[in-house]
Amino acid sequence: MSSDLKEKVAIITGARRGMGKSHALRLAKAGAKVVVSDISEEECQKVVDEIKKNRGEAMAVKCDVTKKGEVENMVKQAIGKWGRIDILVNNAGICQFKPFLEITEEEWDRTININLKGYFLCAQAAAKEMVKQKSGVIVNIASVAMGQQGVGMPNIVHYCASKGGIVGMTEALAVELAPFNIRVNAISPGAIETPMVDLLKTDPKTMEGVLARVPLHRMGKPEEVSNLVLFLVSDDSSYMTGSTVVIDGGWLAG
Ligand code: NAD
Repeated sequence: MSSDLKEKVAIITGARRGMGKSHALRLAKAGAKVVVSDISEEECQKVVDEIKKNRGEAMAVKCDVTKKGEVENMVKQAIGKWGRIDILVNNAGICQFKPFLEITEEEWDRTININLKGYFLCAQAAAKEMVKQKSGVIVNIASVAMGQQGVGMPNIVHYCASKGGIVGMTEALAVELAPFNIRVNAISPGAIETPMVDLLKTDPKTMEGVLARVPLHRMGKPEEVSNLVLFLVSDDSSYMTGSTVVIDGGWLAG
């Protein structure tokens, strides 16, 4: 295994909690210098403190991914401190449960802005540095709600639209950035235990409904997804680009 990330610089968005935090801890453990970014610098700092306690290297940067200026600042800070960007994990996202007929235009725009435009802004800002280096890896976190597999998910139509967009963006970017030795892949997790799905847990019926569709009959842990992120950002996956890897306890196969 060559999943040693020493001397690599990684940016992870939405990393104050949930899967983003887990990815930050995992990549730092593998030796990467990690930019922990999210909407709250204070909470990012707590993740950085945890990484440093484990003798890793990290820095907290406040970044709302919908704001181009903040995204550019995040990249600038990474370059200013460590001189390069090797890895971007586009992870920041929201999921609002609401019947389609009640979703407002503002709610639609908010989901698309964070989940899709945010990935575009971060990928573009990071790729401008990666192109200069002639190397880099981008991992976009999509979802089993990405469509294309015949599993329609009600009450999150705007979320599904954003996640489907991420898969299309990943394939197009992989082709466009390959000449610069930049690989781009996506991960589609199933139901993973994070604050995002707390709402599901409060309703035993909904939870049972989800688990009934998952052959392994449990939710995934953030760390299980982080292992896949580590594989995709490391040289172990050197021949992979443009792929979307599903990690869902068998949900889509069931
Ligand atoms: P989470 O809610 O714990 O984490 C999402 C993070 O994104 C939060 O820290 C939040 O502050 C951050 N964020 C929200 N808006 C932001 C913005 N404008 N700018 C920067 N950061 C912002 O949820 P999670 O489950 O850890 O989600 C991580 C990713 O995984 C998301 O893209 C989500 O859609 C995806 N996902 C989650 C599941 C699941 O079951 N939990 C399944 C499939 C995909």
